[in-house]
Amino acid sequence: MDPGAGEVPSTASEAAPSSSSTEIPAPADQPGPVPSSPQPSRYESQKRRDWKTFLQYLRNHKPPLSLQRCSGAHVIEFLKYLDQFGKTKVHAPTCAHYGLPSPPAPCPCPLRQAWGSLDALIGRLRAAYEESGGSPESNPFAARAVRIYLREVREAQAKARGIPYEKKKRKRPLIPKINTGASSSAAAEAAGPAMTRGEGSSPPVSSAVGEESRV
Ligand SMILES: [Zn+2]
Repeated sequence: MDPGAGEVPSTASEAAPSSSSTEIPAPADQPGPVPSSPQPSRYESQKRRDWKTFLQYLRNHKPPLSLQRCSGAHVIEFLKYLDQFGKTKVHAPTCAHYGLPSPPAPCPCPLRQAWGSLDALIGRLRAAYEESGGSPESNPFAARAVRIYLREVREAQAKARGIPYEKKKRKRPLIPKINTGASSSAAAEAAGPAMTRGEGSSPPVSSAVGEESRV
């Protein structure tokens, strides 16, 4: 999570009237050079792909689900559905490799979507939803249940994989601090006072799952 990622380098002097100039910086993207061609940026095309995937998911949903009726619980359902395509080994607490970042041997633990991928995905879908006319108030990707779910995934994977996700406070002396509204406030919120829940007692996926099963 790099606040400066996605900034347009000052070499883009041509002032091309591109409609994608107001894009939100991608949280997890590399600060790669912006191509001078009219091609959409990597973030933009990824966002469009993700949005299509989600709409496809809604079309195939049983019972059928419209975007208007989509809630945070459905978004969580979607994230869980994506886990089957994950490539990140997440050890079960009973596995001998639980808590090891690079296990010395194979094990039968499942592959999942890494928390960072899900977090970035939700950011893109949240933006795509509003760009396609949805109101921020009804944005299911911004739902509290989704934030809670992501936080629980992060905590669980940090323990299972032995990887702390809190190392983003690195000093960046050359880059002035830029407050990119959406991503930084979301990050601040995620690390906010709501985190003061009991640390050691790995909390069950209670809140998010509870809401899901109600629907
Ligand atoms: Zn394992």
